[in-house]
Amino acid sequence: MPLPLAPPSSTPLSNQHFNTSISSNDHPSYMRLALSYAHESRPLPTNFRVGALLVDSASNRILTSGYTLELPGNTHAEQCCLSKYAAEHNIPEERVGEVLPERAVIYTTVEPCVKRLSGNRSCVERIVETRSKGGGIRKVYVGVKEPETFVGDNQGRKILEDAGVEVVLVGGLEEEILRVATAGHVATS
Ligand SMILES: [Zn+2]
Repeated sequence: MPLPLAPPSSTPLSNQHFNTSISSNDHPSYMRLALSYAHESRPLPTNFRVGALLVDSASNRILTSGYTLELPGNTHAEQCCLSKYAAEHNIPEERVGEVLPERAVIYTTVEPCVKRLSGNRSCVERIVETRSKGGGIRKVYVGVKEPETFVGDNQGRKILEDAGVEVVLVGGLEEEILRVATAGHVATS
């Protein structure tokens, strides 16, 4: 399946450290790139297909990408970004904050989850955890707020902001993001 607005073929998607032609403040283009990763996730009735990018906003460099169920287990897009970056630095994901650049940000098509029905740590918890040594993720750019289908009211924004993480809504792609996110869901009629 072709990816919409994938990077040019000279910068393969498999290279996690590719430089993009996206300028540092072009948040809609970063969001669209995150959405291209959501397309990689397989459609299932019980998951949102989400794409995410971990970006060093100081150098305008993409550190990792992630999407729902990319890694083994019931993994989320933001979790995959953090896990992959930690793995590249040979540390457990719990300590990823120690190796993140000072101005790390995450783009995610859907607002990070605050509660996991599975009992796994939520993406909000994982993002907050990166802040434990004072650095970590500074900003989360979200394409849509989390649909409340699975877990009810999302308190994630408040928890993130209390931890010093700014949450910024990047509008304009809501319809496409939700269509991709819910592609495997059974229509109710
Ligand atoms: Zn999550």
